[in-house]
Amino acid sequence: MQLRRFSHTNHILDEAASIESQIIATRRRIHSNPELAFEEKETAALVAKELRRLGYRVKTGVGGTGVVGTLEGRVPGPVTALRADMDALPVAEPPGLSFSSRKDGVMHACGHDSHVAMLLGAAAILSKHRADLRGEVKLLFQPAEEAAELGGGARRMIADGALEDPDVDHIFGLHILSNFPSGTFALRPGPSMAASGTFTIRVKGKGGHGSAPHQTVDPIFTAAQVINALQGIKGRMIDPVEPSVVSVCSVHSGTRNNIIPDEAVLEGTMRTLSEPSRKRVAALVPRIAKSVCKTFGAEAEVEMEQAYPVTLNDPSTTEAVAGILRSVPGTSTIEAPPLMIAEDFSFFLREVPGTYYFLGTRNERKGCVYPNHSSRFKIDEDVLKYGAASLALVALEFSRKGKR
Ligand SMILES: [Zn+2]
Ligand SMILES: [Zn+2]
Repeated sequence: MQLRRFSHTNHILDEAASIESQIIATRRRIHSNPELAFEEKETAALVAKELRRLGYRVKTGVGGTGVVGTLEGRVPGPVTALRADMDALPVAEPPGLSFSSRKDGVMHACGHDSHVAMLLGAAAILSKHRADLRGEVKLLFQPAEEAAELGGGARRMIADGALEDPDVDHIFGLHILSNFPSGTFALRPGPSMAASGTFTIRVKGKGGHGSAPHQTVDPIFTAAQVINALQGIKGRMIDPVEPSVVSVCSVHSGTRNNIIPDEAVLEGTMRTLSEPSRKRVAALVPRIAKSVCKTFGAEAEVEMEQAYPVTLNDPSTTEAVAGILRSVPGTSTIEAPPLMIAEDFSFFLREVPGTYYFLGTRNERKGCVYPNHSSRFKIDEDVLKYGAASLALVALEFSRKGKR
């Protein structure tokens, strides 16, 4: 996809740099007041207030606590959407920063505070460039990206019409990641992040005395065989060049040292990058669980749930976005490897073409080395201006493109 290059790339970065202190202040304000999935009320109020101040048409309560801001350009044209997620995680943040979480057990440990701040920064830049804008820009502030067990916020925003009236032609989003060095943009065409699914395996045995296992059907021993056998999926049953992960992440059973219990419960996650692999893994987990349990005289009850689909970047828009990112001074752009994390931005990409890209925030000198979701996750705030500028540039460039 060839786009006529917006001629003011330096200009846009200068504008982002000129509001850098506000972007950082917004990020810190949200960081100190983190809100869990579908509870982002104060964050949404802050977003709506700022968008109204900047002259956006604002809709609140979209898909729960979501906010949509729309800015009309000078002439009709394509509709470009930019999305930021707003929710925090149930992680306890250690104190120490002037803006550490003020809420016990809740922390912006995935950087969504910075996503909101960067998109509000882009909103401010775009509001000054209405004359350069064709069509409309729609800013989607989404709840509950982290709450796959609740279906995620993207799906609810789509159901609530966030991509309609006006109909969105392209959608873009950005995630801060500690995987990449500070100031490095990373993206890839096609499958970019994994499909995720969960499973619960209930191993039903027959309890008894710990001294007489032969009189029981030991669910703990059997569950251990299931855990081992499940690793045969990736090792022996899926094409080795097809990425897949099966992880048992919780094991619950038993009450004390000499009682063999009746039951053990395993919970875990499955990750894949293609639909055939997703189907194969989803079929193998229950098959293996049931047959291993049967071997040892136990029974398996298996519940499976599909969470998020593969994040599939449109090749043509991704090539165009890569070109835009390469033009941002002070940054570099690399091809990202596929990541086995999952994102509900994938639901937007099932509806309209677009690109999800990453901005690295790893900086050893500043101690920004801990992974997303860690209680010690720390962002190099110097990159926020690059993120804001990149979002504004993507919107401006795509507004020059025809309708889909
Ligand atoms: Zn996360
Ligand atoms: Zn995240």
